[in-house]
Amino acid sequence: MPRVACRRPIQCIVPPYMVEHMARSADPKLRERAVVDMARSSAVRAVRTFSQQMPALLATASPTGRKHRLVYDARKKDVLPGKLVRAEGDPKTADPCVNEAYDYSGDTFDFFLERFARNSLDDDGMTLISSVHVGEADGRDRFQPMNNAFWDGAQMAYGDGDGEVFQCFTRSLDVVAHELTHGVQAFTSNLAYRGQSGALNEHFADVFGVLVRQWRRKESADEASWLVGAEILVAAKTRRAIRDMEHPGTAYADDPALGSDPQPDHMDRIYTGPADSGGVHLNSGIPNRAFVLCAQSLGGPAWETPGAIWYEALLQLSRTSQFSDMAKLTAQIAGDRFGAATKKAVRAAWKKVGL
Ligand SMILES: [Zn+2]
Repeated sequence: MPRVACRRPIQCIVPPYMVEHMARSADPKLRERAVVDMARSSAVRAVRTFSQQMPALLATASPTGRKHRLVYDARKKDVLPGKLVRAEGDPKTADPCVNEAYDYSGDTFDFFLERFARNSLDDDGMTLISSVHVGEADGRDRFQPMNNAFWDGAQMAYGDGDGEVFQCFTRSLDVVAHELTHGVQAFTSNLAYRGQSGALNEHFADVFGVLVRQWRRKESADEASWLVGAEILVAAKTRRAIRDMEHPGTAYADDPALGSDPQPDHMDRIYTGPADSGGVHLNSGIPNRAFVLCAQSLGGPAWETPGAIWYEALLQLSRTSQFSDMAKLTAQIAGDRFGAATKKAVRAAWKKVGL
């Protein structure tokens, strides 16, 4: 069994610029942990590319062809998956992280099946495998709780967090659904994880991440929260979430560990540098805001009309699609499926973010 933790991750929920900020923190414990995190993520890039190209090889089929979840406990080590602690149909355990991983992966499965008739991530009944309490080596052969969650092309892995900035990563339904949506993408448009196509990849994961939560809570677009990862943060006045889809760039401000949210909310401020794989977690703020504006102007539950348009776009885009392709395609789908008024609303939303 290989030592893994983030061995072949496609996407981690905590973006590199947040980790880099923690590496400059005044707190030596946070600093040391962030450095371990950065070393690990540069070591895994090659495998990430492989797993994005070969998702089918990594899929485990469900024995029943229906919803099938397996939750493992990595027991604070970095070997995946760990010990099986809850299989499909098993009763609740005493461990809240195990139950959250089980329940929230089930909610995500139910959402895609009920809304889009999609049978699991691969639409072929793929088993949803989660490992909780994943640790990482600190360079001196000691283990500390992983300060992240990731989807590695075959399964989910969740750390327990450092307890100062992050807590158990299973706590946010939208984080679980975000990571599993990366899995859906691997079997559909498979948007290349770099530049604007990569920011669209992140955007879709945020969109369906929050839609699963809103659908589960039955919240309409005007009453729903558009925050990503609110529950995985240790509460503080300087932080509300990892990202705010409605108001990108405001999720945290002057935070001693995280700094200020750098996401742009308009094409005028798009990031064009090399960091964060060409701004995949940064520039996703621009389409995120367009989605929220579209959902709010159409009204009602966001998973209905806007969710259906975005899901169809996810199926139709290609690996190299850019923001302008996405804006054009969603307007076209809106017109074809829902008529001229919906098309107008979609166009207006993209225009407000400069597209
Ligand atoms: Zn992601």
